[in-house]
Amino acid sequence: MPARLSKLKRTGTPHREEAARPVKDPRKRLVRAIDLLDANLGVAVWDGRKDSLEVLVLTILSQNTTDPNALRGYQNLAKHLPGKHTGKDATTLPLDADGNVDKVKLRLSNAATAVEPPDWARVAKLKQKQLADYIRAAGLPDAKSGAILALLGWLDETVGQYSLDAAIDKLGVDAAMEALSGLKGIGVKTIGVTLIEALGVDLCPVDTHVHRIINRLGVVDTKSNRDKTFELLKPMIPEGRAYSLHHNLLTFGRTVCTSKKPDCTHCFLRKLCPSASALIASGEVR
Ligand code: SF4
Repeated sequence: MPARLSKLKRTGTPHREEAARPVKDPRKRLVRAIDLLDANLGVAVWDGRKDSLEVLVLTILSQNTTDPNALRGYQNLAKHLPGKHTGKDATTLPLDADGNVDKVKLRLSNAATAVEPPDWARVAKLKQKQLADYIRAAGLPDAKSGAILALLGWLDETVGQYSLDAAIDKLGVDAAMEALSGLKGIGVKTIGVTLIEALGVDLCPVDTHVHRIINRLGVVDTKSNRDKTFELLKPMIPEGRAYSLHHNLLTFGRTVCTSKKPDCTHCFLRKLCPSASALIASGEVR
């Protein structure tokens, strides 16, 4: 594996399939799925503490868009309002065969590790419209600029500096996250991603991929309620397996169990998946 991809250390042998009978119990099915995802895609391992403000802003920018778009918005902001040089190296981001940022392999954790942040004090002084213009590539610029300015304002009030790490040190993780969840535009998934990537907390935040796949696998039945999926899924995941599950479901959701035309015919979870036969019979698969 190229060094630049080593942020997700992976071990595992490709193409292991479920060979057993269908599993009726949803929790047991989940555990089988976790094992097969790890065996086929590798075990993703947290690669160490990161600046939690950088992760949180990247996560806000990633709401309702792809990680490459979030990265573009973040890099544009940092380009116009550069912060102190910290020696981060954007050439370590995963690239595809054409030399573009790899849509499947990019993670917000890669971005937080590789990309120089903006000068937060200068960002905090921007008018909302100016900030919205800088981050426009990430989509929903008005909502996201409002969330970022609210976050920076809260940090200034809470610790007198633009450091979420300092706020966490002062308030503790739970109280800091509780306070953040009261800010507009910062929801359960955004906080969850910050916790796992910046602090290594053992959680599986539920984004669109996780929600779709966990429902297709019949582990939960939560229609469009992602927060409910998170709540039900959390106690079902064996200790220490949540980080890898989150990352593997992102990869799996971008490549196999896609929103439209999932590749059920060749899917290594097919024999475990209660949605497979109906999807294949409907012809809505690749
Ligand atoms: S069989 Fe189809 S629906 Fe089920 S997990 Fe695989 S790709 Fe997704």
